[in-house]
Amino acid sequence: MTEKLFYSDPYISRFEANVLSCDKINGGFAAVLDKTAFFPTGGGQDCDRGTIDGIFVSDVYEKDGVIFHITEKPLETGKTVFGEIDFERRFLFMQNHSGEHILSGTVHRMLGYSNVGFHMGSDFVTVDFDGPMTKEQILEAEEKTNEIIWSDLDILTYFPSEKELEKIDYRSKKELSGDIRIVEIPGVDFCACCGTHVKKTGEIGLVKIVEHMNYKGGVRLFILSGKRALEDYRNKNAEIYKIGTLLSRKPSYTAEGVEKLLEENSQKKYEYSLLWKKYVSALTANIENTDGTAVFCENGADNDSLRILALEAAKKCAAAIALSDDKNGVTRYVIASEKTDVREINKKLCDVFDGRGGGKEALCQGSLHATAEKLREFIKSVM
Ligand SMILES: [Zn+2]
Repeated sequence: MTEKLFYSDPYISRFEANVLSCDKINGGFAAVLDKTAFFPTGGGQDCDRGTIDGIFVSDVYEKDGVIFHITEKPLETGKTVFGEIDFERRFLFMQNHSGEHILSGTVHRMLGYSNVGFHMGSDFVTVDFDGPMTKEQILEAEEKTNEIIWSDLDILTYFPSEKELEKIDYRSKKELSGDIRIVEIPGVDFCACCGTHVKKTGEIGLVKIVEHMNYKGGVRLFILSGKRALEDYRNKNAEIYKIGTLLSRKPSYTAEGVEKLLEENSQKKYEYSLLWKKYVSALTANIENTDGTAVFCENGADNDSLRILALEAAKKCAAAIALSDDKNGVTRYVIASEKTDVREINKKLCDVFDGRGGGKEALCQGSLHATAEKLREFIKSVM
């Protein structure tokens, strides 16, 4: 059994220990020490990173009470070594893990739901509950969680005896056996947990629920605590100021500004479509009913506009092709016909001009590797 220094003091970041064994494994070495401050992956919490005698520790896991440190180089058995964990990273986990307990306890008290899934990723912490929540209930849970944080309560961790444990009504994700570690926030929550926690709720600073989604009949909440919540606030603040500057609006009025912009955009699209239809009528007015293929070059037109033009022109000729030269060696095209199967023309053009495209008997579209001028000459000469 490895002595777990992170349980007696979760704030220990440097320690001395003796190397009990070090075995070569796939991709490195697995070292066992008599004691360690390195937390192994477990209970939804990622393992610590750091160094032992300056050698990087990339992974830490526990098997039958023994903690294995995965190192790049071997450690000498019997030697006293100096370990140091990346405490900045660990403290983020402590803030986020303790924040999750308070939120889960709060939701449990409010609605009787259990936390049925917990994951601390590098971007977000997710918590799954076995029942649905309304937006109002999510806000209320967030508010109550932060009130507990600001009350700066103690967070206690201990291994009660079996008898003592019987008297505790604690939350747990599964039926547990062996020594059970309880994390208690007096008057607020009891939970069976193997993770590392801050000593006072005030150290969490803040819990923010940033997103929620329905998940397996319940709800999944994405939460950020402490420094991660601050970083998220910073990023979002920078983004909203950027949008505000672009819209020449105060940050708190950006949504209104975007709404207005979208309205103006859809009005402009509508006006453009009216003008395009008029333009198409003028362009196709002089086509006499003919058995030939009509070609139009309308550089800059989007695919919808090309389609409207080709379909309108196709009413008056055997087939109509609308082209838009993108000036990068590629020309987009739409072919339409009411009389022939345009898939044959489509295939011919794609074969000759290394194109990509397809469609149905009456309408095909795609892109070709040629200028619109070159395509026009080709179509005139062969069709
Ligand atoms: Zn926990």
